[in-house]
Amino acid sequence: MEYAPIKKDVSATNKLANMVNYHQSYDDFNWHEAQQLIKGYKNGINMAYEAVDRHVEEGYGDQTALIFLEKKQQRKVFSYAQLQQTSNRFANLLKSLKVDKGHLLCSLTDRSPILYTAVIGCLKSGVVFSPLFSAFGPEPIKSRMKIGGATVLLTSGKLYKKKVATWRHEYLALKTVLLYDCDGECPSDCIDLDHVLVQQSDQFTICETAAQDTALIHFTSGTTGKPKGVVHVHEAVIYHKYSGYYALDIHPQDVFWCTADPGWVTGISYGVISPLCNRATLVVDNAEFDAIRWYNILEKENVNIWYTAPTAIRMLMKAGNLLSLNYDLSHLRFLASVGEPLNPEAVIWSQKYLGKVFHDNWWQTETGGIMLANFISENVKPGSMGQPLPGIKAGIVEVDDQGHLTEVTASNKTGELAFKKGWPSMFRDYLHETKRYQDCFNDDWYLSGDLAYKDDDGYFWFVGRRSDLIKSAGHLIGPFEIESVLIEHPAVVEAGVIGVPDPIAGELVKAFVSLNDGYKADAALSKSIMAHARKKLGPALAPREICIKQNLPKTRSGKIMRRLLKARELGLPEGDISTLESDETT
Ligand code: ATP
Ligand code: MG
Repeated sequence: MEYAPIKKDVSATNKLANMVNYHQSYDDFNWHEAQQLIKGYKNGINMAYEAVDRHVEEGYGDQTALIFLEKKQQRKVFSYAQLQQTSNRFANLLKSLKVDKGHLLCSLTDRSPILYTAVIGCLKSGVVFSPLFSAFGPEPIKSRMKIGGATVLLTSGKLYKKKVATWRHEYLALKTVLLYDCDGECPSDCIDLDHVLVQQSDQFTICETAAQDTALIHFTSGTTGKPKGVVHVHEAVIYHKYSGYYALDIHPQDVFWCTADPGWVTGISYGVISPLCNRATLVVDNAEFDAIRWYNILEKENVNIWYTAPTAIRMLMKAGNLLSLNYDLSHLRFLASVGEPLNPEAVIWSQKYLGKVFHDNWWQTETGGIMLANFISENVKPGSMGQPLPGIKAGIVEVDDQGHLTEVTASNKTGELAFKKGWPSMFRDYLHETKRYQDCFNDDWYLSGDLAYKDDDGYFWFVGRRSDLIKSAGHLIGPFEIESVLIEHPAVVEAGVIGVPDPIAGELVKAFVSLNDGYKADAALSKSIMAHARKKLGPALAPREICIKQNLPKTRSGKIMRRLLKARELGLPEGDISTLESDETT
């Protein structure tokens, strides 16, 4: 890539950083020491204990744990002690309802306090917690609950009526429905949580959970196909704490804002568990994206660490370069992004207009935590996902037709991104798809399904998902490189690139782009974008066709669904679209 690394003044600004010298931290690492970051509970490990009760025991009960911002500006604050008490009440309620260790509770909620109470309450009871995204329709909710075998559902009165009531009695395993906000109209076969929770004791003895007991089930985003149910265990908390400490530089009392919805893995691993384990104060915003609102939150809540996603950053860019200058963002210390490739343009933009650079990092539902990161103490290479966390052995591998795996040692050579197995938050199964789970491993490596290369400095660069790779005239083309060039054009805000069949080349590159405000889709603009792409990429990589769309199809977690662009282009079945957000077909 042509962008120069963004140099950091390590000596001055980063003296207090959790990581001062990456290579030293990497070389000195051992898992035994990392494990000492957590306390352990009785003879095992319990996520909730590490996240909440431990801090209260250590005298930090009065520290603010959560700041909730409601749509209409109301603000509610909970201390660690209060979160301990409400989660104890929830755990006691589960006990009284005979919801036992190992049972599965699904939540379908907005970003309200009850969700945080419930996650912690479940983990305390040994009950497995699985969040569902509140914008799902009835079918995806039902199918995920069935896959997980959930016996309990937590949701609001409104969501229940709209999305659950019609099928509830078809799913006999669902024994208990807990409803909050039902305004005195709780159906007789549900439990009015607002009424019963306050009657529970706020004292609870945390259930003894073993390191390998299942704690969480997360469904993947469904970007490449049908979402998978991913199993995580209590021991993952070691990595949640540790990766938040190193990759996000979380210090006790930092004000931390993770914008991911808690319906997805990021919203739980880094929206709840990791920052609480590191004794931060979490900001939770229960409203949709709005650039002005977001800048206001950063300013008014004095946010120190902000963890967001490329789509959100691109939306901020679209909202205008100068908007941020109206706000005092001087408390922001560290900015990070995950979920999709972060185009270099966005990194440069953040440095210029936010005064701080976004640090891209990479992980997946399956890895349970951040695996590659641009660290606070290291130069940022715009467009790169960064380097492996201490303790993580990352590599680029190739698997031949006989299934033999070799590690690619040459720099800048594309292959599959893989990790030596064994880190604590590594997934333990795909629900009902154990064979598929086993197939992800080869010779002690976990194969991620993403293609990448490593440069001479050990930084990893995303090329594309294996399933999105384009094979054109003997070249293997990853969409990311082309998309990044397209969004450098001032008119383009987002780009999705696919391969379309061609009798001569095998596949040809086709690009779909959406526009910044103020630009009109016409032939002249297409020509200008095409000229830009040809100039930057050369004729072999430049798209043969550019299609301007109002929106690109995305998952609800904000990822461009290239498989859907392709299916629509080729008139093929759309497959599982339960996680599709913007269904724009023009
Ligand atoms: P599914 O597995 O159902 O197709 P998904 O892979 O999108 O969905 P997630 O686990 O939420 O589900 O997303 C992980 C994927 O997101 C990664 O495998 C990678 O392709 C992409 N990703 C995450 N972070 C980055 C990043 N920093 N750069 C590039 N890609 C990223
Ligand atoms: Mg995936």
